[in-house]
Amino acid sequence: MSLIDTSFVPADIDATDWSQIQPLLEELKLREVSTAQEFEEWIRHRSELDAACSEARARLYITMSCNTDSTAANAAFTRYVETIPPRLKPVEFELDRRHVSFTARFQLDENRYRVLNRSRRASVELFRDENVPIQTDLSKLSQEFDRIAGAQTVQFEGREQTLPQMARYLESPDRPIRESAWRAVATRRIQDRDALSGLYERMIQLRHKMAKNAGFENYIGYVFREKERFDYTPRDCEAYWDAVEKHVVPLVRRLDERRRGDLGVRVLRPWDLAVDSKGRPALRPFEGGRELLNKTIGVFERLDPRLGSMVKDLADESGTKNPDGSMRSECLDLDTRKGKRPGGYQYMRDRVRKPFIFMNAAGLQRDVMTMLHEAGHAFHSTLCAVDPLVEYRHSPTEFAEVASMSMEHLTMPHWGGEGSNAASNGFYHSPEDLSRARRVHLEDCITILAWIATIDKFQHWVYANPGHTRSERDAYWLSLDTAFGRGISWAPGADGASGEGLAEFRAAAWQRQPHLFSHPMYYIEYGIAQLGSLQLWLKSITEGPKAAVDAYIRALTLGGSKPLPDLFAAAGVRFDFGEATVKRVVENVSQELERLD
Ligand SMILES: [Zn+2]
Repeated sequence: MSLIDTSFVPADIDATDWSQIQPLLEELKLREVSTAQEFEEWIRHRSELDAACSEARARLYITMSCNTDSTAANAAFTRYVETIPPRLKPVEFELDRRHVSFTARFQLDENRYRVLNRSRRASVELFRDENVPIQTDLSKLSQEFDRIAGAQTVQFEGREQTLPQMARYLESPDRPIRESAWRAVATRRIQDRDALSGLYERMIQLRHKMAKNAGFENYIGYVFREKERFDYTPRDCEAYWDAVEKHVVPLVRRLDERRRGDLGVRVLRPWDLAVDSKGRPALRPFEGGRELLNKTIGVFERLDPRLGSMVKDLADESGTKNPDGSMRSECLDLDTRKGKRPGGYQYMRDRVRKPFIFMNAAGLQRDVMTMLHEAGHAFHSTLCAVDPLVEYRHSPTEFAEVASMSMEHLTMPHWGGEGSNAASNGFYHSPEDLSRARRVHLEDCITILAWIATIDKFQHWVYANPGHTRSERDAYWLSLDTAFGRGISWAPGADGASGEGLAEFRAAAWQRQPHLFSHPMYYIEYGIAQLGSLQLWLKSITEGPKAAVDAYIRALTLGGSKPLPDLFAAAGVRFDFGEATVKRVVENVSQELERLD
């Protein structure tokens, strides 16, 4: 059954072509609307056009990321980004304004339209003409950040390597190799320290000015409105930081102390965190994208047949082919190969209403986690696909990441495979590998909570004190690292691995988090979602997996049509990221880690 809506937008529109979108936008701008019913139709038609535009961008992006060495694919995406969004944005704003004025005249079903209306109102309230050029300046500064960060490479083992490529040396059991790799990266970063500090300061000043123009005391208030954080305040973030310091940090430090003992070193250094603490070789859970897919289907079928069948639907390979023969379907491109951009994502094509999962599977445990995570996003896209409004077919990050992260946790009991086919339907066949994989995952879940608190608290301070000096900022960062950081030593010492020069690297460590530059004040979302998804995992333990998956499906089906507290409630978990939740989650993860020993 096709879900493509053609009541307003022609089926064969090319939405990368401004001359085809423009008349439709114009019609929406001028159309006479004189009843509530006509207002509703106007909303649906705008949504249809938004979906077509969004899908045009998605398709160009997907094609480019699967073929980064194709000049045509790159040029098509660049042409789109340069020509369509700059023209679309001002019209979208005018349509938002029309929408808000209609809400004063026509009464729509509050339950259905509350979330959409408040989002349109926020857009109108925030808009200032004088902020448009500031936003352009800010995106140019972001590009400058990308340029500086993208040019960071090091010479290592006789060849030039990017910083992401250097990550694998930190998994080497050979400590001197880890140290020299870590130092090579840190030394390269320090070369750009002043340039990046200067860039960040210009960004802070522009963001502060934009907030002032819009009538806010500082950028924090502005960004809470811009990101439509209607359901929580900076006070809730403070409660999160405090709870993490009290309950998460002690567990992280205990885990680090245990790691130190396992590695048999006098002090733990920053290059000792990624290696397997027992010196074992990397886990090899699968070989190739097709095997990854088949094992993923097996895992989800054992968790719940409804989830298994949604993954199967993504796997239909008819009519698609990769040039190198690797697995490809209309909805999946999983194997790593030359000419693919790094990383992984799930991208919903809003008009045909089909998700696409992209990743660079190379047979590692983290690829399994990426696959389970992106599958969760695809379930979300699929379950709410019938909603006629594209706005409601996406939910805020705080909940969208609950959909994906939950699948990492809820599938844990099924990673090992089952029955005589365990080798073909599971990722880890020895009990040792299985508990090792679970352990790594749960430890990652906990340590990320502390890093999120560090980044979030840092940003709140930065924007609450926009006049700070460079040395004040570094000092504040160090105080946060002392409160939230890992159980490692940055001091010089006679432990065989010298700590010389580490203090400078430590003070500049905030610069490795790109969000601070290009996605300001964005990060707490992951903490909120992680706590939500871990609550759902606890639910699956106490009430059984079926109850948890029922609630999961119920909540995902709502898409973005309800406020965050309602979405969390539908999933049977609390929208709370303060002490009560943090404490309960951490205690349970800690017990599970003990059980895995
Ligand atoms: Zn995600």
